[in-house]
Amino acid sequence: MSIEENLNSVKERIAKAAVRAGRSPKDISLIAVTKTHGADMINEAIDKGVSDIGENKPQEVRDKFEYVKSGVKWHLIGHLQTNKVKYIIDKVCLIHSVDSIHLMEEIDRQARKYGKIMDVLIQVNISGEESKSGIEPGELDALLKKAGELDSLRVKGLMTIAPIEGDASVHFKNMKALFDEYKEKSYPHVSMEELSMGMSGDFEKAIECGATMVRVGSAIFGKRDYTRR
Ligand SMILES: *Cc1c(COP(=O)(O)O)cnc(C)c1O
Repeated sequence: MSIEENLNSVKERIAKAAVRAGRSPKDISLIAVTKTHGADMINEAIDKGVSDIGENKPQEVRDKFEYVKSGVKWHLIGHLQTNKVKYIIDKVCLIHSVDSIHLMEEIDRQARKYGKIMDVLIQVNISGEESKSGIEPGELDALLKKAGELDSLRVKGLMTIAPIEGDASVHFKNMKALFDEYKEKSYPHVSMEELSMGMSGDFEKAIECGATMVRVGSAIFGKRDYTRR
């Protein structure tokens, strides 16, 4: 299957899942996850209609940025160390993986240098799995309060990664409940608009549970070959 066929099939599955959930397909953004793939493949996907791409490593954003067609929106979706913020701050439109106050402060500091306001999502470890990154739900209040002190950062919502094993729906439902709970509260510099959840194996379930952004890699680009990097 070509990238174009895969992309069309993913878009159709997104639309069907949205309709099943009584939602409009327009309300779900597809982030095409391009990690490990070269600029040629990314540019082909952009030619076929991809508008948002996701990378999990700051280094890959930095390496590929100048070779990828302009106009596409870059998302940083993987773990971000504070010392790497400076490499991506001018390149990405949304950081999905904010998981500490320390990181929020550094993003704010670097964004201010560029005269930019950086949009971020807070990553929540909703399943409580030890291997997963993200904050505990109980820490969310403290991070959202902190956002009020940071003029160059805006929290736009939440992100999660469901465990590979078992039924992801229960975690997605818990995540949606947390999202809705905090949507009702008001914090300066915070607006709960985006809920980033769902990958190749579970994006339809995520949409049925309320995802507004899905991050899909292998269903579009095929299996990743990590040895090529
Ligand atoms: C790799 C990755 C994805 C996409 O994974 P696929 O299973 O290939 O769709 C989504 N989110 C994050 C954070 C990732 O690192």
